[in-house]
Parts: sequence; C-alpha cells; structure tokens
Amino acid sequence: MKLIILGAPGAGKGTQAQMIVEKLGIPHISMGDILREAVREKTYKGEIIQSYIGEGQLVPDKIIYELLTERIQSEDCKNGYLLDGYPRTMKQVELLYGYQKIDIVLDIEVDQDVLIDRITGRLSCPSCRAVYHVKAKPPAVEDRCDECRSILVHRSDDTEETLKRRLNIYHIETKPLIKFYSDIGILIKIDGNQEMNEIHESIKKSLGIG
Ligand code: AMP
Repeated sequence: MKLIILGAPGAGKGTQAQMIVEKLGIPHISMGDILREAVREKTYKGEIIQSYIGEGQLVPDKIIYELLTERIQSEDCKNGYLLDGYPRTMKQVELLYGYQKIDIVLDIEVDQDVLIDRITGRLSCPSCRAVYHVKAKPPAVEDRCDECRSILVHRSDDTEETLKRRLNIYHIETKPLIKFYSDIGILIKIDGNQEMNEIHESIKKSLGIG
C-alpha cells in the first residue's frame, strides 16, 4: 500500500506515521528527516537545505525531488511506503502523480491553538528520531530518549516564530493538496485534536487494519 500522510506542523504526522508503518510493515519516508540527515552530512547541498529549514521556508523542489526519487527507488519500497512531509505543494503533487500511484491520503486535521502547544513542547531524538512531548508524551528519564538513551533536543525550527511562518506556508501551499486528493477520491480526513491513541484508532479503522 502506498500512503501519504498530510497535516500541519504539529498535527502528529510523524508519531502516527511511525505507528502505521509498524502495523503495515512498510517504510516511513519522512522528507523532513531525509533533509535533516543531509544537513548533518555537512555537504554543500546540506548547507543550502539548512538555509531554508532555518527560516521555516520550503526547500526548492529540485533538491526535494532528487532526494525523494532516490529514496523511493530503494528495494524496501517495492511493496509500498508511507510518505510524510511530501508532497507539500501542487508542483510536488504533479511530480509524484507522474510516476507513482498513491492508494490513500490521510489528512490529520488539528485546531491552530493545539498545534502551537504541541510544537513548542516537542522534543526529538537526533539519533533514532523518536518524538516526545514535555506534557503529552514525556520520556521516562528527563531529556533522554526511551529507545536509545540519546539526549533529546528541541528542533531548531520549533520556535513559535518559525512555526507561524510554517503554518502560513501550510495554509497557502499545502491546503490545495487536500482538495486535489479529495476530488480524485482518495482522501480520508482524521480528527487530529484527539489524544494520540485515539487518532491511531481512527486511522486503523479508516484503513481497515483494525
Ligand atoms: P518537517 O519535519 O516535515 O516539519 O519538515 C521540516 C522542514 O523541512 C520544513 O519546514 C521545510 O523547510 C523542509 N521540508 C520538509 N519537507 C519538505 C518538502 N516536501 N518540500 C520542501 N521543503 C520541505
């Protein structure tokens, strides 16, 4: 099954994506993680990517598309995958539509005040990429990843100011995707204001993988 998960920053896409792929046995392709990995490699391309991420702006399509196609062509994607963070613009929809048939698009819908609370309290593991929240999902030991014991960090683009810019871009660039996928009949809307496990239950029911 080839899936896309959509939602504003803080909608819980990463957490839900992880739970879905464990259930379905397909890879979780997070565009944000691929980009942050490229930044960590400290290449010229990584520096360009960081200049956009740091400003809360979208990375140019050419770079995104190259990284995405390379990942999708890997052997582990032949039975499907879950895309998280791609596509984000109608141009990216078109590029994907040209060569991949997507089965279902999940759209996690969350109110803006809930998003701000989730993002500003988010903690991420730089090693294994597990995601926590200071109130809703704290790690067992303060600032340490439960999975790999690394020190947790606040993502540098998780500030309120950058978040506002990212939300603005989301409304302008990404909202039209929802209409597009709804029009072609593959969109499923999920109420993302619920608690994490309730959202997961709604998704499983929608996908018929209860
Ligand atoms: P995320 O981890 O999905 O919140 O992405 C973090 C940042 O990476 C975004 O704010 C963008 O700067 C960049 N990014 C992620 N996915 C894309 C994409 N599909 N197109 C352009 N930029 C992206």
